[in-house]
Amino acid sequence: MTGLSAWIGCWRCYTEGRLVGDWFDLTDERPTSADVHQRGEPLGRTSAPDRFDPTEHEELGVFDLNGDLTLFTDAIGESLQAAVQVVEALVEIEPDRIAAFAAFAATIDEAVDSALARQFEDHYVGAFESIRDFGMDYCADLVGWESLPDEVQQALAPHLDWEGLGQEQLDHGGYDAALLGQRLYVWHES
Ligand SMILES: [Zn+2]
Repeated sequence: MTGLSAWIGCWRCYTEGRLVGDWFDLTDERPTSADVHQRGEPLGRTSAPDRFDPTEHEELGVFDLNGDLTLFTDAIGESLQAAVQVVEALVEIEPDRIAAFAAFAATIDEAVDSALARQFEDHYVGAFESIRDFGMDYCADLVGWESLPDEVQQALAPHLDWEGLGQEQLDHGGYDAALLGQRLYVWHES
């Protein structure tokens, strides 16, 4: 997987009025202070090298996020450590499930890391267009709908409240769900 990049900068330089940093792909590397200063601003160009104490420039922060990482803005904040943990979690998630994982993580008050990714994979049900869609596509199976003869299904279908069935399952069937970007993501309760 590629494209999980963040703009990493140096806080000390920032407080001194210089924006020093660059985009780093966190799937490939965890940038050090030296990386950030080398890529972001060759030392000596605007800093006086004899007055530059590297030990005072160790504190790095996340200044911006790109791609799928923007779905985890709240979890990451300005923390490089949190960003690295999120990336470690995302490499365990199938790419088309990352938005679902973001919705799941947003409802759980826990750090977004590999353990949460495994918890998500164990509990995830699917993504649906609506509660009605969840009722038809998923809950109908649970109540044995598919085992009914076609003619019975056709006769009954107009009278069934698929949205009500979906809502009933969400309320009392052991599921949790979150709406994100017009999609309803559903998972089993822990
Ligand atoms: Zn610095």
